[in-house]
Amino acid sequence: MSTQQAHPTLLIPGPIEVSDEVTQAMGRFAQSHVGMPFVNLFGETLTMLRDVFQTKNPASQPFVIAGSGTLGWDLVAANLVEPGEDVLVLHTGYFADSFADCFSIYGAKPTQLKAPIGQRPQHPEIEKALKEKKYKAITVTHVDTSTGVLSQIAALSELVHRVSPDTLFIVDGVCSIGAEELHFDDMKVDVALTASQKAIGCPPGLSIMMVSERAMDVFKNRKSPPGSYYASFKNWLPIMQNYEAKKPSYFATPPTQLVTALNAALKQLLTESMNTRFQRHKDISDRVKKAVGDMGLKQLASDPDNQAHAMTAMYLPEGLTPPEVLPKLLERGVIFAGGLHKEIATRYIRFGHMGVTVTNDQERKEVDKALKALKEVLDDVKKAKGQ
Ligand SMILES: *Cc1c(COP(=O)(O)O)cnc(C)c1O
Repeated sequence: MSTQQAHPTLLIPGPIEVSDEVTQAMGRFAQSHVGMPFVNLFGETLTMLRDVFQTKNPASQPFVIAGSGTLGWDLVAANLVEPGEDVLVLHTGYFADSFADCFSIYGAKPTQLKAPIGQRPQHPEIEKALKEKKYKAITVTHVDTSTGVLSQIAALSELVHRVSPDTLFIVDGVCSIGAEELHFDDMKVDVALTASQKAIGCPPGLSIMMVSERAMDVFKNRKSPPGSYYASFKNWLPIMQNYEAKKPSYFATPPTQLVTALNAALKQLLTESMNTRFQRHKDISDRVKKAVGDMGLKQLASDPDNQAHAMTAMYLPEGLTPPEVLPKLLERGVIFAGGLHKEIATRYIRFGHMGVTVTNDQERKEVDKALKALKEVLDDVKKAKGQ
């Protein structure tokens, strides 16, 4: 029996359902952010992130800072790119537009490489773009939460390192880390950024990031100081290093309860290997995609190679809109998300399947509940329309 109040099942692409252990950790008594119990807990949390991202290089640097996933973009744009420098932004949906905007705010020059909705930019065009000018960084959205498009990190990294080895390889993993294959060292990633509330399984409020040794060197050799105060590595690096070394220090107060909740979430996450966890997400995703296909629904990402495993974005039958479907799902205790991609937002819905919904599927049975609800709602609406 769950200790949580009865509630509709939250199956959007973040925030996601959280375990009882995590909600209990979130409700922990007040602690000093510089007292040893919390310092030890925060230090342990940072160290666990090394296993989640799969980095064995002690010079890789984890950051956990109060803020949402969006803060990760500010951290990248303020610290790793200087005004006037070019950045190549691979576009697979809504989130690339926003990341590009963020670079502009800090004076960098983003160039977006766009693909048709549901697809991703292809390697020959990426290679061509990388040869055209010197890019300080390239960014890719691992799972674009607006389209459910998955990018292939290993192959892309190989391409970038071959064609433009000095370009920093930056992965927006806000909807992927903890669900999709990401091996920070093996895939030669320079920055992987995420947030607490998606596949990590914690409430929202933390920006979480791993930065490579090489990227930290780029930061240390900047010509101009970072154009942000709160988002400056200069301010946070000593704090993160001190916490991990179990030494109290202060720049800005960390959200102690949230970090406690993250600690609980990571302990649960690491009870099995990351590869097992990735496979579980694939298996559930296969089941969902087969079932929605059987209901006659088409995904935005029509090519299976482009389909995320953490979520499914699917078009509604012709003429149906999210406001006709989502409230009926809610009546059946299931919350899905509407569309987010500007051009087609009124034509599709999104089903997030990550974290405890996936790892504890056997007892929670939320995936079957959601698929059953979706089928009933579609049948009802069809009947009402006399089809
Ligand atoms: C959710 C998301 C973000 C933004 O995260 P917030 O926590 O909402 O600020 C960025 N990128 C991707 C891919 C996301 O899914």
